[in-house]
Amino acid sequence: MKALVLERKGELSIRDVDLPLTVGPTDVKIAVERVGVCGSDVHYFTHGRIGPYVVDRPMVLGHEASGRIVEVGAGVKGLAPGDRVCMEPGIPDPTSRASRLGLYNVDPGVTFWATPPVHGCLTPFVVHPAAFTYRLPDNVSFGEGAMVEPFAIGMQAAVKARLQPGDVAVVTGCGTIGIVTALAALAGGCSRVLISDLQQEKLDLAGRYPGITPINVTRQDLAAAVREATGGWGADVVFEASGSPAAFKGLFELVRPGGCVVLIGIPIDPVPLDVAGAQAREARIETVFRYANVYPRAIALIASGKVDLKPLISATFALDDGIAAVRRAAEGRGSDVKVQIQVSGG
Ligand SMILES: [Zn+2]
Repeated sequence: MKALVLERKGELSIRDVDLPLTVGPTDVKIAVERVGVCGSDVHYFTHGRIGPYVVDRPMVLGHEASGRIVEVGAGVKGLAPGDRVCMEPGIPDPTSRASRLGLYNVDPGVTFWATPPVHGCLTPFVVHPAAFTYRLPDNVSFGEGAMVEPFAIGMQAAVKARLQPGDVAVVTGCGTIGIVTALAALAGGCSRVLISDLQQEKLDLAGRYPGITPINVTRQDLAAAVREATGGWGADVVFEASGSPAAFKGLFELVRPGGCVVLIGIPIDPVPLDVAGAQAREARIETVFRYANVYPRAIALIASGKVDLKPLISATFALDDGIAAVRRAAEGRGSDVKVQIQVSGG
């Protein structure tokens, strides 16, 4: 089967790969429609590794996917051939201790598309557990369906923050995850979200959403902007979505006494944390690793019209042009949020 393969660091190809397509009793077979190119796909291409995950043999890329069901296993209920769906790319062991606690995203035994050595979904057909396959309402496009995966990270952050109606939030970092976190925070009841970055083009895009105030930290002091927006009190919730060491300096100056800081961005190296600053406010610190139990809520918000992810899809390539798609994403253009690949028909 044709697939977009990362052969090794810096080398991509479109070629046939032998991928298992046996449909087990609780599985569905899906004709893949749309797949988003993630920062992780790009990072494996440019660096050959992310932390402990090393590309040491060819790997099919892609984990942000939507498609159409073509076959269901004998024991599958609630899904049928023809259904339009999106897929949650992490498959935990349902009997593991973490899964039984509802924390299946941190199950040490989880396998996740396009995380070495597991193949991803940039190929015309995949077999996936029905339990991690979700039907898309008619008014949610395949493009939006493939955006559910990154949006789910913002949803997880909003859930972990335990937002209250009217909260003021700050998001540091205006990449894809920063923007979807701001949108999840607004959908979760925030009255206002300030989002900071160095790149004006990204901020301009985020600022087109009502309720989001962009702050360019090359020209404006973020802490001062937060003080001004909150009468000197501080933000109820701060979402760190950059992973940049610079963002961790003064992070707790942004949060109000008793507020919450949610760490989403993954720093490449350990970063110093201002423990005294956190203690002085009795700040609650939450962390996010992927997501669990948020896909249905994410899809419902998109279908309701409360969250519009369509403006974040910047370009779409055919599967045959998949190498160009990854290269485009690797350019990191300021005007790009999400590059997607249309798999079917390619
Ligand atoms: Zn992703």
